[in-house]
Amino acid sequence: MPLFRTDPSRIFSDRKALDPSFIPSRLPHREAEIERLVLDLSPAARGERPTNVLIYGKTGTGKTAVAKFVGRALNEESGGRARYVHVNCEVSYTPFLVLARVLSELRGGQPEAYTGFSQDYVYNKLLSTVSATGTSLVVALDEMDRLMARGGEALLYLLMEANERLDGGSIGVIGIANDIGITGGLDPRVRSRLSEDKIVFTPYTTTQLMDILRERASVALRPGAWDEGVLELIALTAAAEHGDARRAIELLRLAGDIADARDSDRIREEDVLEARRRAEEDYLRRLVETLPLHQKALLMAITELLLKGAPMVTMSVLYGAYSNIASYLGLQPLSQRRIRDFVHDLSTLGLISAEVRSFGREGRTTVVTPRSDPVKIKQILLGDELFQPLDGGGFGGQRTLL
Ligand code: ADP
Ligand code: MG
Repeated sequence: MPLFRTDPSRIFSDRKALDPSFIPSRLPHREAEIERLVLDLSPAARGERPTNVLIYGKTGTGKTAVAKFVGRALNEESGGRARYVHVNCEVSYTPFLVLARVLSELRGGQPEAYTGFSQDYVYNKLLSTVSATGTSLVVALDEMDRLMARGGEALLYLLMEANERLDGGSIGVIGIANDIGITGGLDPRVRSRLSEDKIVFTPYTTTQLMDILRERASVALRPGAWDEGVLELIALTAAAEHGDARRAIELLRLAGDIADARDSDRIREEDVLEARRRAEEDYLRRLVETLPLHQKALLMAITELLLKGAPMVTMSVLYGAYSNIASYLGLQPLSQRRIRDFVHDLSTLGLISAEVRSFGREGRTTVVTPRSDPVKIKQILLGDELFQPLDGGGFGGQRTLL
């Protein structure tokens, strides 16, 4: 019997419409945000500098989709006057890489072509290109959180200050971030110039997710392959996880694959439940296994504190626990500052949530709470050979580690 099926799917009519990078032609429940962004960018369509804007919101609230959607329209409708460039700062994670990306988008070619050149060279080349073409350039810095610990502020400054040095054209910036606290550490001048406008994307409700799913299912799935009950189960699951539309669409695709593998023409609720089980494990495992060592040690510290019933995990307690675990594993503990950045990274990844709380006279501190099952996380961490000494609960008998 063959391993692969080649006959047409009875579930999907267009499976790639469920790809994470697919931008649908309609984005239900983001009409207001789209209108606002269009307003901010409309000067660019006439060849002028647009309003700089900061977009905030948790993962899966449609930030990337809306920005690309509006950016595409700007490119198509501005008759060459404006140019929208979308940069994913997870990929282009230094100011140099961002500038090289933008320049290569404008001039054609690959960012790698600028390897070995200085940042000054790339920056000046970008300015001369914009000047010469008189373009209203709009740079969207997506996942900007990733850049903040690595020169993000300097880059923002360079991009905004460029306008005083251009002989033609202009540069506008759209900052897209998951964490509302991201601009807190920025120089007030950079911050106020970047946030000429601010748009907050709120999590989707179950009903809104249902609308999004219904719209997408009608594009990607065959009629009769889905029903309201299935979509509702998916929407409820994703709504419980901070209204994440990405998660919802992923689940729909996985459930479809599972139904397909059963050679069925209809997704059942059991397929969704199975998809949920699989997604949970795959996602967590991938995420945790690929973390750098110190982030793993930090995550281990958080997990252990939670499993030992700590009512809440504050930064100082956490740093102590992390240092102990790191030393025990033979690692030189990193500074409290680095660890603070890592807490932020882990929260961006959705593994934990970190929230700044204020305690009256005691001041403010960051409080960490779990977003995934600590038992599962611990299991995955223990799969790393280096963490083996921590197996057996008692830390090799050293219960005082935490
Ligand atoms: P974010 O950038 O906020 O993390 P995305 O824009 O990547 O979220 O959205 C996640 C997924 O959900 C994408 O596949 C996107 O197409 C889809 N999506 C988000 N919002 C909507 C919406 N309002 N309508 C249709 N699809 C949406
Ligand atoms: Mg995004």
